[in-house]
Amino acid sequence: MKYFDYAASTPPHPDVVRIMAEIMEAQYGNPSSIHGYGERAHQLLRRARAGCAAAIDVKPEEIVFTSGATESNNLAIKGAALRYQSRGKHIITTATEHASVYESFMQLQQWGWDVTWLPVDSDGLVSAQQVMDAIRSDTVLVSLMHVNNETGAIHPIAEIGARLKKEAPKVLFHVDGVQGFGKLEAKPAEWGADLYSLSAHKIRGPKGAGLLYVRSGVELTPLLSGGSQEQGLRAGTENVPLLVGMAKAMRLAAERQADFAQRTTILRDRIMQVIDTIPGLVLNSRKEGAPHIVHFSYPGMKAEVALHTLEQLGVTVSTQSACSSRSAEPSRVLLAMGRDNACAAGGLRISLGDEHTEEDVALLEQAIHQMVAQLRPLERR
Ligand code: PLP
Repeated sequence: MKYFDYAASTPPHPDVVRIMAEIMEAQYGNPSSIHGYGERAHQLLRRARAGCAAAIDVKPEEIVFTSGATESNNLAIKGAALRYQSRGKHIITTATEHASVYESFMQLQQWGWDVTWLPVDSDGLVSAQQVMDAIRSDTVLVSLMHVNNETGAIHPIAEIGARLKKEAPKVLFHVDGVQGFGKLEAKPAEWGADLYSLSAHKIRGPKGAGLLYVRSGVELTPLLSGGSQEQGLRAGTENVPLLVGMAKAMRLAAERQADFAQRTTILRDRIMQVIDTIPGLVLNSRKEGAPHIVHFSYPGMKAEVALHTLEQLGVTVSTQSACSSRSAEPSRVLLAMGRDNACAAGGLRISLGDEHTEEDVALLEQAIHQMVAQLRPLERR
């Protein structure tokens, strides 16, 4: 079986597993304790923070450790909205964000915030001009993803950040960087981002670990009540082994980013070419998109049927994003891109990782051809 669902989760890197196992066995002190065990755990945490910060070119004190990007996104969005509500209650995002951003905005909307949901074009993109046109005197936050987790579309984050800093410097800019880090250059501070979320398990780190970059000077209302860990922004004992694992995974991903992008772009282009030549399949990803994601629709077919047929043929892909895969609803992202219901309900995502080879992709291509040949008689017309 070949796994092509790296955008959902990745196999932890052996070096990451090794270092986490060592720490779990030997360094179980609480990093807040003042005895030797605590001090050693604290040192590990300090080094992990410095490592994560270096991988995205920010200061260690700007890193807040979390349980993953869902928590980072919630903290960034609700924490900023609550903290700065006296300035205004207008917040901006798009209709194609990850569920953790989308639902945070929905909740704020229910609590009385005014949300602008920016429309995307047929490639799933917003322009910097659209963002600037939506800014009002009571706008406090813009939240956008770097790379879309379903289609791989890349938002012009650097351009938007630069214009916000110049033309609306009081508006905070949050970037969900989960699907971009390790695949594209990631320089949140240089882009002008004030808040930037990452998750470890998308980059061969462990599940349940993430971070939020909070630019110096930006304040947030914490969402958890408790101890004063993470500069008072995230109460709860830090998960030292997982966070050390994340730091290791981030270092490896940052070091290999350029090579990763080059190798996977070649493989991705081959997959796109094959899909493009099969009648009845519709490509939803573009060559200008992220190097690791190919999304296509099989409008005549239920996505689950296509997925299970591919699985029987030896390859694992995904329907929509992992967190929406079990939902029977058509993809919110594809509908926002103007696709019809049949396209939005028949979406499949192939996502690549650093271990994939040309032979793996040849197997995938063969499986896609066979899947379509097998399912042709069952297509709804
Ligand atoms: N944001 C994006 C773009 C994602 O792809 C994901 C994961 O699916 C998340 C946020 C949530 O990350 P986590 O699984 O760490 O909560």
